[in-house]
This record gives sequence, C-alpha cells and structure tokens, in this order.
Amino acid sequence: MNTSNRRIVLARRPQGMVTPDLFRLETVPMPGVGPGQVLVRNHYFSLDPYMRGRMEESKSYAEPQKLDDVMLGASVGVVEASQHADFAAGDTVMGGFGWQEYGVTDGAMLRKIDTRSIPMSAYLGVVGMPGVTAWYGLKKICEPKPTDTVLVSAASGAVGSVVGQLAKAIGCRTIGIAGGAAKCEHVVKDLGFDACIDHREHADLHSMAAALKAAAPTGIDCVFENVGGHCLDGALAAINPFGRVALCGLIAGYNGQSIPLENVRALLVMRVKVQGFIIADHLDIWPAALGELAQGVAAGRIKYRESVAHGLEAAPEAFIGLLQGRNFGKQVVRLV
Ligand code: NDP
Repeated sequence: MNTSNRRIVLARRPQGMVTPDLFRLETVPMPGVGPGQVLVRNHYFSLDPYMRGRMEESKSYAEPQKLDDVMLGASVGVVEASQHADFAAGDTVMGGFGWQEYGVTDGAMLRKIDTRSIPMSAYLGVVGMPGVTAWYGLKKICEPKPTDTVLVSAASGAVGSVVGQLAKAIGCRTIGIAGGAAKCEHVVKDLGFDACIDHREHADLHSMAAALKAAAPTGIDCVFENVGGHCLDGALAAINPFGRVALCGLIAGYNGQSIPLENVRALLVMRVKVQGFIIADHLDIWPAALGELAQGVAAGRIKYRESVAHGLEAAPEAFIGLLQGRNFGKQVVRLV
C-alpha cells in the first residue's frame, strides 16, 4: 500500500481567468485510519463549474474554498481500510474528498453506491448532483406541460443533457444551445432534442434571438438557464406569456465577465417567473430524483457522455477547459 497521498491545493485566488499557477500539487503522508474512520482511494473525482465560485472570497451561498486546502469536490472510489461499523474494505463509495488520491472520513458524508448496472463515474454526473439539479429545475421550477417548448443552454453538458432528455420524456418540444457543430449534433442525434443552436455561430444577441425564434415558432415556455449572456437574453426575446426561467447557472460570467441583459422588459410584459436555485437547498427531493435517474440510466433511456482527464496532474487544465467549453459531457478526472 502507498505511504503517501498526492493532492492539489488552492495556492492563490484568481483575478479573472483561472490559470494553472493558482493550484499546487503536493505529496503528503498517507492519512492514518483511527477508530470509527474509513480510508478511501479515489478512483474518480468531479470537476464542476461551482468550484470557480468557491475560489473567490466574495459573498455567496457557500463558504469559500480555503487557501492551501485540498480543492473541494465530489469523488467516488473504493474503501481501502475501515474501522467503521458500516463500511468494509472493498466497498464502492461516494464521498467528498476532492482533488486528491486518498481521503479519510468518519463516514458522515460517505455512502455506498451500486456499480452493478451503473458505472462508478456516473454517480458524479447523471446519477449525482448534476442530474438532480436538472431534475429539480425542470420539474419543480419549470413544471412543463407536454405542449410546452423548453430551452436548455449548455445542452451537451452534465446538467443540460439530462434536462433535455427529461423534457423530451414529458413530451415537450426541446431546444438546446451548445458550443459548436459536434456538440449540437450530439444534442439532437444522441440525446433526442428537437433542435440545437450553436452559440458560437450565433454569437450576438440579434443572431441568437432570430435563431431561437426560428427554432421555437410557438415561442418558449421554459428556459433552463445554465449560461447567461446572449443565450438568456435571446431566450427572453422569444419567451411566451407566463414563461418560467429556472436560473441554474451563469457560467458566461464565472471568470468575472459582466453579463448584461437587454430584454429585461420581457420579464414584465410576459409576466415571467425567474427562480434562481441551489440544489443543496433541496435535499428532500434527492432520493426521488436519484431513483428516477438511476432507473433511466440502467434501462438505457437516459444517455450521458463524459470527458475523462487522466491523472491528478491533468485536473487544473481540465477545470480551465470546463470553464471554456472544452469538455464534452460531464468532466471527471480518473485516478485509477
Ligand atoms: P457542463 O458540463 O455543462 O460544462 C460547462 C459548459 O458550459 C461548457 O462545456 C460550455 O458548453 C458551457 N460554457 C462555458 N462557458 C460558456 C460561455 N461563455 N458561453 C456559453 N457557454 C459556455 O457543466 P455542468 O452541467 O456541470 O453545469 C452547467 C451549469 O449548471 C453551470 O452554470 C453550473 O454552475 C450550473 N449548476 C448549478 C447548480 C445549482 O445548484 N444551481 C448545480 C450544478 C450546476 P458549450 O461548449 O456548449 O458552450
């Protein structure tokens, strides 16, 4: 067994774009396992857009990531050693060990996962936090009827891909926005969306609004917003009376860019409901959502795609890529 643990810590806070020098790779002694504790070897850890927000010290819904601490995040792996009654060596588990090879816990945030019909890494995406986010925003905020048109930005990503498939299962006309022809092709051909708009091809508000109006001839009833900027602005130009916006993310502004909105008037005249949400506030719906998603994935009804970075050293660049649209599907880092 290894005697050391390698990990990536936050060395400095960003000023604008994230750069590799903000992170530091460290080798530290392997943590010991005391009474009531579990040692887990991370096989995969998750990279998520919210990590960019935690790198800042500004006021938010969660405490900032501490400097010189391991980058936080969800992980899946296998129990190496246990002095905890509920876990044994060999158990496959999900935890929150972040960007490192091994972690020790008292078991409070650890749960066993069943990998017989669902691969381990999927618990970081489609049957994990991003999937539940999609489920909640669509079903509890958008509340779409089968006759509705639903628009999803970052449609090929971890959250957006699930939103679109759930909306199609309800019967909605479902339109995605994604960056580039390959992502748009995947969104329509593999995920079953009715249409997809390439935001790189339609890079200004006027062009985006025209493309959305053409793709949604009867207007948009629900916007599942992951991006902001001209994607959201264009959507408001086509929104129907009593439309709903599930405001899930604004990734176009996560590196400090301003995200102006020209079509604010539509919110008033179309009597639109805009609801921002943070999925950690809604723990009550997680079991139902995870159950439905797991069934869908196991049966092959819900499809997902992953971008896998290999090795701890690859994490900073993969994270920077996620913030720039270089990932294609759920971004994970594979360690084993
Ligand atoms: P994704 O897997 O979708 O990856 C991020 C994607 O965002 C990129 O691939 C890129 O896709 C798109 N993107 C990045 N920058 C821009 C830009 N400037 N303009 C347009 N698109 C951009 O990530 P997730 O599915 O994990 O997260 C999606 C959103 O959901 C994020 O905003 C995230 O913060 C939010 N979220 C919110 C939660 C909540 O509780 N509210 C929980 C989980 C996620 P493309 O190439 O197609 O542009």
